[in-house]
Amino acid sequence: MRYSQLLIPTVKEVPAEAEIPSHRLMIRAGFIRKLASGTYTYLPLGLRVLHKIMAIVRHEMNAAGAQEILLPSVQPMELWEKTGRDVDYGQTMARFTDRHGRQNVLAPTAEEVITHVAAQEIKSYKQLPINLYQISFKFRDEFRPRFGVLRSREFIMKDAYSFNASPESLAETYQQMYDAYCRIFKRCGIEYVIVEAETGEMGGSGSHQFTIPCENGEDVIVYTEDGSYAANIEKAAVDPLPAQQIDGDVSPAAQLHTPNVGTIEEVCKFLKTKPHKMIKTLIYVTGDDETVVCLVRGDHDVNDEKLTQAVGGKHTELAGESRVQNITGADVGFAGPIGIADKVDLLLIDHAVAGMVFGISGANKTDYHMAKVVPGRDFPLEGDKVQVLDIRNAAEGDTHGGAKLLFKRGIEVGQVFQLGTKYTSKLGCTFLDEDGKDHPCLMGCYGIGINRIFASAIETGHDENGCILPINIAPFQVEVVQVNNDSEAVVAGAEQIYDALQADGIDVLLDDRKARPGVKFKDADLLGIPIRVVVGDRGLKEGNVEIKRRTDDKPTDVPIGDAVATVKRIIEELSQA
Ligand code: ATP
Ligand code: MG
Repeated sequence: MRYSQLLIPTVKEVPAEAEIPSHRLMIRAGFIRKLASGTYTYLPLGLRVLHKIMAIVRHEMNAAGAQEILLPSVQPMELWEKTGRDVDYGQTMARFTDRHGRQNVLAPTAEEVITHVAAQEIKSYKQLPINLYQISFKFRDEFRPRFGVLRSREFIMKDAYSFNASPESLAETYQQMYDAYCRIFKRCGIEYVIVEAETGEMGGSGSHQFTIPCENGEDVIVYTEDGSYAANIEKAAVDPLPAQQIDGDVSPAAQLHTPNVGTIEEVCKFLKTKPHKMIKTLIYVTGDDETVVCLVRGDHDVNDEKLTQAVGGKHTELAGESRVQNITGADVGFAGPIGIADKVDLLLIDHAVAGMVFGISGANKTDYHMAKVVPGRDFPLEGDKVQVLDIRNAAEGDTHGGAKLLFKRGIEVGQVFQLGTKYTSKLGCTFLDEDGKDHPCLMGCYGIGINRIFASAIETGHDENGCILPINIAPFQVEVVQVNNDSEAVVAGAEQIYDALQADGIDVLLDDRKARPGVKFKDADLLGIPIRVVVGDRGLKEGNVEIKRRTDDKPTDVPIGDAVATVKRIIEELSQA
């Protein structure tokens, strides 16, 4: 295609809210424009990239035996009420009431709808396994849309759903999807890691996430150096810390006056101590209105997923002020473990707290803390309502199976789940086995964020001059730059190469604009097209053109007659890499 005829509005300045390189560069390169918070327009080149990613995804999904369908985005609320996810998704789910007063959902995902479809169409074990997928818009009213298309309110997802007759069959489809995902991300040219993941509001048992390691990722990956373990921090299990030791007895717990210092930070400053010497007491309420208290060390954070598991999958949230006051008799900020077990439904104590010799905690009295609080002496470590367990996020210094845990950030681009019968049993999706007996189908679901692949590729592939896009997803494989529009020889040479590349089925952009060479080179770098062919008077005098990979420092002179073959060889090389 010809640059002069395309809408490629490159710009120098970007709004301050574009904090990370991929967001800035997608705007600067004229790939996207913002409409409103978390919603973006894809301009021609941006859309070409999305199409290329979708083509790869489609190809690999089809090759893995999945069948493409298209589900509606407007879905009846009733289906979501049947699984209870109308509540679980909370405010993230976009809802509207239609003119007839019916409640609708704008699909944030489609387990309910696909299960409803499958319930109608699947009758017998003979139809199983089956794997159905779609590539479509999803809507999530994210609390904080940011980072451009990485966390947007409207995005394109490939979502696949398998229905299986047995756990073995589900495991097989799961593995097929896992392998297909590996091929997809490889072909997209992005480095990924696979980590064990929590299932979140999706439910079910096993899950893996495909994550692109990079500084600006919102996810934290926890892994061991030898690579034997890698998990999302939401899931990562840690070994109990070695129990602390001291000689002799610890004096009795003693009250300290700590006026107006409620947070760990404030208390530490006031008492000149360190967070790891403190016991943090957090009070939660479950969906069933039970009170659950978590004790973690002052430098640790409660892990929401571990907490959810510990309360049998129930929804939990931090208790409000009045409940905290009811239970502790004190203002928020002064809760402590002494005597609290009797007042709550469940006391969850992190291993690291149980292993402390003594700590500082709230005193259950406004403006007071307690020093020398001894686990097991001043509050119970066992009992009906008491559990010592791993309830916190992995932190620096932790181990897993004895191996030191390391941390890095990443962007989640895909996730696969073994869901089991969570949806099928609630939505009546059953099949008859060989003996004519009825069973709920087992289900798996498999998602990929198409837009996130695009942004991740730039987040991990760019330099100070612009994008460096992988060959298989770049808007064009090659850009031919005609340096001087007034020279007939240059125009003819550039056109000749452009035509020949196109005739060979290569995706090529011809920069035929009436613009200074400097402008053309700058834009070429910004767009990140992997191969550049420059046709200029100086080279042509020697019968040469210049060819340069986006990542090369300098171009190479190539005889004009060899240009097409050279470009094809480089495409081959880059596709293999
Ligand atoms: P996150 O934890 O980042 O919010 P998620 O786990 O809720 O994502 P899934 O429900 O697993 O997301 O959706 C499948 C895929 O859709 C994700 O792996 C991700 O690539 C993509 N995705 C999810 N939310 C967004 C969003 N707000 N913007 C762009 N892509 C998204
Ligand atoms: Mg996910």
